[in-house]
Amino acid sequence: MIHRPLRAHLLIVLALGAALPTLVPAQEVAPHVHLVATGGTISNREGGRLSAEELAKSMPGVERYARLTHEQFANVASSALTLEQWLALARRINELYLDDKDLAGVVVTSGTDTLEETAFFLHLTVRDPRPVVVVGSMRNPSTLGYEGAANLLEGIRVAAEPAARGQGVLVVLNDEINSARDVTKTDALRLHTFRSREHGLLGVVDRDRVVFYRSMVQKHTATSEFDLTTIKALPRVDVILVYQDAPGDLIKAAVDAGAKGIVMATAGAGATSGTQVQGLDYAAERRVFIVTTTRTGEGRIAAPPPNPPAGVQASEAQRRRRQFTAAGEDHMPVKARILLMLALTKTQDRAEIQRIFSEY
Ligand code: GLU
Repeated sequence: MIHRPLRAHLLIVLALGAALPTLVPAQEVAPHVHLVATGGTISNREGGRLSAEELAKSMPGVERYARLTHEQFANVASSALTLEQWLALARRINELYLDDKDLAGVVVTSGTDTLEETAFFLHLTVRDPRPVVVVGSMRNPSTLGYEGAANLLEGIRVAAEPAARGQGVLVVLNDEINSARDVTKTDALRLHTFRSREHGLLGVVDRDRVVFYRSMVQKHTATSEFDLTTIKALPRVDVILVYQDAPGDLIKAAVDAGAKGIVMATAGAGATSGTQVQGLDYAAERRVFIVTTTRTGEGRIAAPPPNPPAGVQASEAQRRRRQFTAAGEDHMPVKARILLMLALTKTQDRAEIQRIFSEY
């Protein structure tokens, strides 16, 4: 039989022991993490969306990991965010980091549908090595099994994690850390929807700690050349799908509507449908830039040679098209659109645009 006060002490020691790996020692101040809420399923409670404040209060024990502050940027579905709001969001995060050198990380909540697009835009335009973590959820707060508070807490833990510094914008859902560059939504409903295709995840968020397995080598955030203090607006860039007998007049329609760039989501490694060639020629004649990507979901597209191979007779239209076409490397069509929008704010030079696609 254990003496009573001794037993009480033992219980306290055991309880502390179980909790210790996840606790910040009492004398240390937890890192400051700022939450910027934009809406999405994570907030979409029946009868009224959760506010940033309600999200911040939804995680018991969050203070162990971070001193959390919050703000409401928007409260809409992800696809309702406009390009102007993207610019404002990236500017806001840059401003937060410029104004507060002690801010450890930023977490952004988003709807999941176009989360990867918002995350990639921030990956290219937030110019600070400190982490920006984008989180969402697949089940809404009124659903049994809502995973939003758990995902948000994991996102906050990653934002507070020193190893997350320099990794660019990260997407955290379902205990997994993916790079904004590579991640894509692969399933309309399942919780494990966010995958980085053949590149794989960057790390995991486990009960005891946040673990990174690899880091990003492409340019992003602190090494990005896209400076929003000099970019006032983004040019229109449209994505057009290649499929059997796809008409070229959709390309022409995009050009006539004001597109400055066209991303072709080709069926394989860059070839377009024969019926689309006239549309592409129409675009190139009007100096509308074309980037080829693949709709297959995997693989890269190599840069096409700028000139026809020696001995090959090329028409004037073919030559012009080559001067206005670059390859989208391994970017998904929607991500290539974002990179092309930013590239076109700086240049129309084919070699420069190709360089940008190979470096980011
Ligand atoms: N899944 C939707 C999105 O991506 C959420 C819908 C909503 O928040 O209304 O934003």
